[in-house]
Amino acid sequence: MITPNRMPWHPNEWQKLLSQSFRQPDSLLAFLDLSPDLLEIDVQPDFAMLVPPPFARRMQPGSPADPLLLQVLPLALERAQISGYSADPLDESSDGRAFKLAPTLLQKYQARVLMITTPGCAVNCRYCFRRDFPYDAHKPRDYQQALDVIAAETGITEVILSGGDPLILSDQKLGNLLHHLNAIDHVRRIRLHSRLPIVLPQRINGALLNIFRSSRCPVTLVVHCNHAQELDEDTARAFQYLREASVHLLNQSVLLHKVNDDANQLCRLSEALFEQGVLPYYLHMPDRVAGTAHFDVPDLLALKLHEQMRVQLPGYLVPRLVREEPGEPSKTPMTIQS
Ligand SMILES: *Cc1c(COP(=O)(O)O)cnc(C)c1O
Ligand code: SF4
Repeated sequence: MITPNRMPWHPNEWQKLLSQSFRQPDSLLAFLDLSPDLLEIDVQPDFAMLVPPPFARRMQPGSPADPLLLQVLPLALERAQISGYSADPLDESSDGRAFKLAPTLLQKYQARVLMITTPGCAVNCRYCFRRDFPYDAHKPRDYQQALDVIAAETGITEVILSGGDPLILSDQKLGNLLHHLNAIDHVRRIRLHSRLPIVLPQRINGALLNIFRSSRCPVTLVVHCNHAQELDEDTARAFQYLREASVHLLNQSVLLHKVNDDANQLCRLSEALFEQGVLPYYLHMPDRVAGTAHFDVPDLLALKLHEQMRVQLPGYLVPRLVREEPGEPSKTPMTIQS
């Protein structure tokens, strides 16, 4: 058992760190000893920059091509209008089925439903597929309607808490939400998708661990890590606590040009995750979201990288290479034909 005084950080440390996040490209570049002239940055991006200090500290000072920096620094390139890229490439707003249950409940796949719990994140990822999501229209702050629908739909066995990032919610809000979900008999699994254990591992505090430990439904946490350099001793500690609280740990990555489109890097990521107790789950092709075209990796290269991973790694360290196609009943595995 973890006692609160064994934790290396104060329960509210994460909120303090979050409030100290880098919000201006210039200040992040100064912190990294980089001249702003080296990169064509966008000083006033529509999708704001947000980088918490623990993530910034894992970047290499003086390196404009740092794979962590490239994920978070707003570039002028994002303003390019490219055909085939839109604000809503997954057709979520026009696909009447997607949000038919409730404005905060997205059901695309059988038996599992995704709940938009908050618009907030601890980091703004430039490749984000929800960077233009109309959160206001989906009122993520009111959970009651979603809980009523889940209670009425007996076919739902898994609830996925998403956002934004569900771990940005307070311990109290998350505790309430899990309490209500656990009270619904037909819900058998609770899953959270979050980037906080990576970018702000101090979020894993004693109160959160108690919420997970006391959940009737097994809890799975799918973290989002794209590069081995995102892992350090603090993420290792956070994962160790989570495992001691019986949380299943999986990772999903997005395949991103110049960040991780390299077979050796991808293998190192899988191995580094495993060493910290996390199994690779998905490797996603980026969605065609406006402003993210410069991250694209050609299908053929993606398939080749994945094949090299299968050769170099044991099968359980090879993530499934998938893309999301509007209207499909599951994520679509990439194949030569697709
Ligand atoms: C990705 C996703 C899921 C989860 O799919 P799994 O294959 O079970 O991981 C569920 N709902 C939505 C809307 C999704 O986009
Ligand atoms: S944490 Fe997830 S939802 Fe938030 S900006 Fe990054 S990719 Fe988007």
